[in-house]
Formats: sequence, structure tokens, C-alpha cells
Amino acid sequence: MRIENDLKLGFKDVMFRPKRSTLKSRSQVSLERSFRFKNSNVTWTGTPIMAANMDTVGTFEMALALAEKKIFTAVHKHYSLEEWSNFLEKAPQGIENFIAVSTGTGEADSQKVAALMSAHPQLQFICIDVANGYSEHFVAFVKEMHKAHPSKVIIAGNVVTGEMVEELILAGADIIKVGIGPGSVCTTRVKTGVGYPQLSAIIECADAAHGLGGHIISDGGCAIPGDVSKAFGAGADFVMLGGMLSGHEESGGDTVEEDGVTYKLFYGMSSSTAMDKHSGGVANYRASEGKTVKVAYKGPVEETVLDILGGIRSTCTYVGASQLKELSKRTTFIRVSEQENRVYTK
Ligand code: 5GP
Repeated sequence: MRIENDLKLGFKDVMFRPKRSTLKSRSQVSLERSFRFKNSNVTWTGTPIMAANMDTVGTFEMALALAEKKIFTAVHKHYSLEEWSNFLEKAPQGIENFIAVSTGTGEADSQKVAALMSAHPQLQFICIDVANGYSEHFVAFVKEMHKAHPSKVIIAGNVVTGEMVEELILAGADIIKVGIGPGSVCTTRVKTGVGYPQLSAIIECADAAHGLGGHIISDGGCAIPGDVSKAFGAGADFVMLGGMLSGHEESGGDTVEEDGVTYKLFYGMSSSTAMDKHSGGVANYRASEGKTVKVAYKGPVEETVLDILGGIRSTCTYVGASQLKELSKRTTFIRVSEQENRVYTK
């Protein structure tokens, strides 16, 4: 047994130190970024926020709403080929720049991806998502996918350490999804004791990825716009959101009404709700590692998005970054033992 004594930090452990700036207004800040992805050689420009590939968040309706703001959606893996075709037939031109096809790592999964890619060659992004990206099988699957679809951008995860980020990039992935256990409806840390504080995971994984010309997504743990800024400040190229985009008109999940209040169900993809829905229940060799919660209905997602983007723009003005690209270069985090004043917070 060994203990690593280096302190690892989460979003709540830090704040940005303000810096002198020549920016006059947050309207001067551009949140768009352009990337060239190393293995596929695809170029991309947009606002690098992503809706999570959960069936309550990564819906076609969400993709249509977010693409208008050049924001990306990792579409969940439970849509059929027919549903994909119907969606793409009616979707606006250019939608393919802002959506990924999500997949697991089974034989049926790779067949479905192959069928989708041959029916709709305009699709560019494949998100290979497993709870634990540390298995040899996963690395082999990423290699096979890259070989089968060399010109597609492969997103792969989840992992939290630099050496695994490097291995996946060398296996053919372009963007590595980083985060084990920080999610709002995740119970991995409770059920297994496994995890890594998200801010440190981003800092370490971004360093590893950027050294090889790869990119990372910070996935999970953002509860407020300030957390999204902190993820970018720490070095994330993209930030993926589940809970913050749940409960909207465009989100999935059943609507329930209680005492005159409307809620939408939001659940983890390893929760018993999701497993009952998609896999005929929780297999008896595993525990559910996700919660099911009711989220008060939030209306159309546009307002939430504007609130998040406004927050990030403001962070950029506080540290003097005129573009999102400069944010991490201009970031000095201070360690704190307090966050916001909660006198009037329930
Ligand atoms: P959030 O933005 O809600 O904090 O985190 C969203 C992320 O939580 C997702 O993108 C995914 O990585 C993770 N997640 C979603 N469902 C589950 C689950 O059932 N169990 C675990 N461990 N993580 C989940």
C-alpha cells in the first residue's frame, strides 16, 4: 500500500485571482475556439462546451438548441438508426459540427457506429464512453475504432491521470474525457471509494494531452458557471455539463408534477432508473453507481446557456483574457477555505 501525499483539489478549493486588464467590457471577450485534432486532422471552431451523453441531457432537441450557439452535444447512445436518420433529415446544415455519436465498447456498439457512419458520412465525431477507461479492452477498442474510421474525431474516456491520457491519444483518440466520480448524479465515490478531485485531474490531464498535441474535456462536477470557468482556467479544452443542462424543455426525462410544481427526472447513466430503462434492470454482479433526482423545471435551455456564457466572459474580464484561449494562461488560482456567502442561500 502507498499513499500519495500531494494535495489534489476540486473546484470548491480555489478561486481566480483578479488581474489588471485593459478590457473595457465583457462584450469584448470571444468564447470561440478553433482546434485542429491530432489524429483525425479535423479542424473545429465553436464554443467549447458540451452537453453530456446522458439520455436526460444529450438529446436531439438539446443538440438543435445548443448548435445555434455553436455549442456541442454528445448525443446519447440510445437512439436507433432510424431515429438518427429522421433527425439528420430535418436538422439544419452544419449540425454535424456540433454533435457526436456516443457508443459503448461492445461488438453491437461498433456495428451500430459503422452503420451510422456509412449511412451518414457527414457525421464527424464518435464519443466512446465507459465509466472506467483504464481497461486494456477499452484501449484496444479505441485503436480499432480509429483504424475503422481514421478521419473521424474520436472522443474517449473516462480517465483522470496523465499516463492514461497519453495512452489513449497514442491509440488514436483526439479528445480525452476526464472525470471519475465528480458528476452530480454519480455515486461512484460512495459505492467504490474511487475518484480524483476534478480540478487537479484537469490540470494533470491537460498537461499530458497538450504535450502530445491532444485535447481534453473536463467531464462532470460543474454546478455553477464559476466552475465552468475554473475548468477552462485549469486547462480544459472543452467542458461537459450534465446537471446544469438538466431539467430544461430540451432535456430528456419524464416530467412529474407535485403540489403544483413541475419537475423533470434526471438520473445517472448507471443508475437503476437508466438500467431498468435500457438494460432490463441492474445486473446482480454490479451496483448502481448513479442517482435519480427530480429537478424543478427550468424552461428553455437558452437562458441557462446565456447565464453560463455571461459568467465565463466575466471571468475573462477579471483576469484580462480577451479570448477564452487566453484564460488558462492568465489564470492564477488561490487556494481558499470559503466560497460564496450563503446567508441568503437555502
Ligand atoms: P454533472 O455535470 O452532472 O456534474 O456530470 C455529468 C457527468 O457525470 C456525465 O458526463 C458522466 O461522465 C457522469 N455520469 C453520468 N451518469 C453517471 C452515473 O450513473 N454514474 C457515474 N459514476 N457517473 C455518471
